[in-house]
Amino acid sequence: MDCPDFETLFAAQLEGTGEYAEHVAGCPDCAAILEEHRQLEKDLFRLADPLPPADLVARVMQRVAAEPLPVRAEMRVGLSILAATLMAAVLSFVATRGPIGLLGASAARAVVAWKTALWGLNNAVQVVWSTTAIPLTVSLTLLLFLSLVGLRRVAPPRAVEIEVHP
Ligand SMILES: [Zn+2]
Repeated sequence: MDCPDFETLFAAQLEGTGEYAEHVAGCPDCAAILEEHRQLEKDLFRLADPLPPADLVARVMQRVAAEPLPVRAEMRVGLSILAATLMAAVLSFVATRGPIGLLGASAARAVVAWKTALWGLNNAVQVVWSTTAIPLTVSLTLLLFLSLVGLRRVAPPRAVEIEVHP
């Protein structure tokens, strides 16, 4: 019996038993080819990406909990300050003006007052714009820019790096 071609040989190997199994048992050439093919397949499976470990999510969450999250902390502090300010505002209103039902009307009055103030500010800006020289505007812009850059330097870094070691 002649040696079968590779495809027939590999198909016979997949099926396990077959008419070529006897031939392979008695033919070192075909046995060597099949063994090489088997090793190659094994290596390919090993090369394929391994599945992530089962405890990956748990480890990531552990790292997240361990990291000092600046953004989250800032948010918490900011919300606390906001809540405290609102509470203080409401309390002071109740203490000075009376029942809380009047808060809405008072807030509306405050908005109207702010609008008036902003309108005045707008007029002032128009006056300044028409009377002052350009150097003043430029220097004010520069000042604003510098203070913004300074604020950025002071602010803590926002990026949080999470490393997961296998
Ligand atoms: Zn053979």
